[in-house]
Amino acid sequence: MRTPLVAGNWKMYKLIADAVDTVTALKPLVADAEGVEIVVCPTFTALYATGQALAGSNIALGAQNCYPKDFGAFTGEISPQMLLDAGCTWTIIGHSERRQYFKEDDAFLNEKLRYALAQGLKVMFCIGETLDERQTGAMNAVLERQISKGLAGLSAADFAGVAIAYEPVWAIGTGITATPEQAEEAHEFVRGLLRARFGQAIAEAVRIQYGGSVKPDNAAELIAKPNVDGFLVGGASLKADSFAAIVNAAR
Ligand code: PEP
Repeated sequence: MRTPLVAGNWKMYKLIADAVDTVTALKPLVADAEGVEIVVCPTFTALYATGQALAGSNIALGAQNCYPKDFGAFTGEISPQMLLDAGCTWTIIGHSERRQYFKEDDAFLNEKLRYALAQGLKVMFCIGETLDERQTGAMNAVLERQISKGLAGLSAADFAGVAIAYEPVWAIGTGITATPEQAEEAHEFVRGLLRARFGQAIAEAVRIQYGGSVKPDNAAELIAKPNVDGFLVGGASLKADSFAAIVNAAR
């Protein structure tokens, strides 16, 4: 049985006070949510204060990105070690906005993933096709490439710290959600890719989150699908009550 993983990606929203206020409101709303793992991923400047506000709660702290070095002359970047120091246990890697706007390719994302895992961070590794790729029938090949190149070189032990977030790009921030059937079809395909590449035990253990316009009113039908193991939530995670409703739908 895979424990659902529900994470909020706050993107480049929220100043420190707002981030702290949001988790202060969120904590009591999910305090008795058992059988679900909860993560919030604020922007870098709000990580430490948010982590302090989360202390003793059942909500973990995650970052949205990292760079595959410890220290050095890498202006503007942040290392897994710094994220751990700020209180993070998780990071997102490979979000489609990083792939699209910052030209992060499969090889670089694989380097980041392996580095973050080696430093002890857990990773939500994002994959997903664009609308054009879906409409032209390239979706499966895209997912296969993102999995084979993105997860290359991972050991069986590494997978204890990896979740895959299937996020169809056409559903992110658009208000268009994949239907439960579309999500299940993609998740089943991705699990099959994991099985073929890494074996049955890993394929069965790795959680595959769905991301793309998840809201309180569609979370329950999505999580009911056997291969949907939680969510990566953008817009609806910015408000404590809507994120809590999604968490509670996943318990
Ligand atoms: C995301 O940013 O990962 C995401 C899924 O965003 P939204 O929920 O707003 O579509």
